[in-house]
Amino acid sequence: MRGVNSSTAPISEELPCLCKGADNTRDSVISISLACLHFIMKIAAFTHQGQPHVGQVSVDLLSVTPWDLPLAERELGAQGIIERQVRGDAMPATLSSIALSQVQLRAPLPRPRRNVFCVGKNYYAHAKEFASSGFDSSAKAGGDIPSVPIIFTKVPESVIATGEAICMPGADVSTAIDYEAELGVIIGRGGKGIRAADALQHVWGYTVINDVTSRDWQNRHLQWHMGKSFDTFCPMGPWLVTADACDGTNTQVRCWVNGEERQNASTRDLIFDIPTLIETLSAGITLYPGDVIATGTPVGVGIGFKPPRYLQSGDRVRVEIDGIGAIENPVL
Ligand code: MG
Repeated sequence: MRGVNSSTAPISEELPCLCKGADNTRDSVISISLACLHFIMKIAAFTHQGQPHVGQVSVDLLSVTPWDLPLAERELGAQGIIERQVRGDAMPATLSSIALSQVQLRAPLPRPRRNVFCVGKNYYAHAKEFASSGFDSSAKAGGDIPSVPIIFTKVPESVIATGEAICMPGADVSTAIDYEAELGVIIGRGGKGIRAADALQHVWGYTVINDVTSRDWQNRHLQWHMGKSFDTFCPMGPWLVTADACDGTNTQVRCWVNGEERQNASTRDLIFDIPTLIETLSAGITLYPGDVIATGTPVGVGIGFKPPRYLQSGDRVRVEIDGIGAIENPVL
C-alpha cells in the first residue's frame, strides 16, 4: 500500500473550487494564503490492519484512499488535513485504496484539539419542550426562547466513533440519559472577531454529532458541562464533509431510537444560525482550524415525552444528516 500518486496529484476527481474571502479577522491564527482551496470530499479516520489512517472516501462510499502521513498525524484523524488545506499546502501522496468494508471507522477527529463547543436550546420547538420538562435549569433565569446563544462544551475524551457503544454510567450515577441529534460545524480558517457576514468563509465542513446528555446532572448542577461530557457521550462521524458538499444552513437532521423516528427537522429552523454562532464564539475566543461546534438539537428528545423516554441498555441510536451520512451507536 505504498505511494501510488505524487504529492502534487489531484486529491479528488471532482473539480476544485476557490473559496474566496479576504482575511477579515483581527487576529489571524495561522498564516494562510489569500484564497483557500477547497475540494468536495469526505474525509474519514479509520484503522486498517491495526494501523490508524486518514483518507478520502469514494463518491460511491465503497472505498477509502489513505494519505501517506506520519503516524503522529494519522492518530489525530482529519486535523492535519484540515490544517494543510487552510494553509494552502500541497496535499500528501495517496496510498492504494481500501474497501470501506475492510476498515474500522474512527471518529473523524478522535480527540479534538480542545473541547467541542455546543449550543443549547437552538431550535424553537426544542427550546419549548425542554423548558417545560422541568429539567432546564437555564429556564429559571428567563423565558423558553433564549435571547442570546447558550454555549457549553464537551470534553474531547467524550468523542467516540459510529458503531462504538454509548456506555450507561450506572444507576448510582444517572438514570436519565438522553440523545440529541446535531449538525457539527468544523472550523477551517480560524480567527477572532469574525463577523457573521463573513463567518461561512471560516467553515471548513460538517459532521454528524449525537450530544448524549445526562439530564439529571444537567439540571442538578446548574451547568451543562458535566452531564454532557460523560465518557462516550459524543458520538461523531461517520466522517467529515467539506462545505462544498453540504449546505449546513439548509439540511435535514434526523434521529431514530431502535428504528423509531424521534427527531426530524431542518437546520433552517435554528434560532441562532451558523454565522451568528461563529460571530458570538469568536468575539472573545480565538477559533482554530479543526474546532467543532455542535449547533443544537431539534424537538423530539427523550425528555420531551411524558413520561420521558430515556435511553436504555440495548437501545440503538441512529443520527443522520442529509449531505453527510449517518452514525449509529448501541447503548451499553
Ligand atoms: Mg445539544
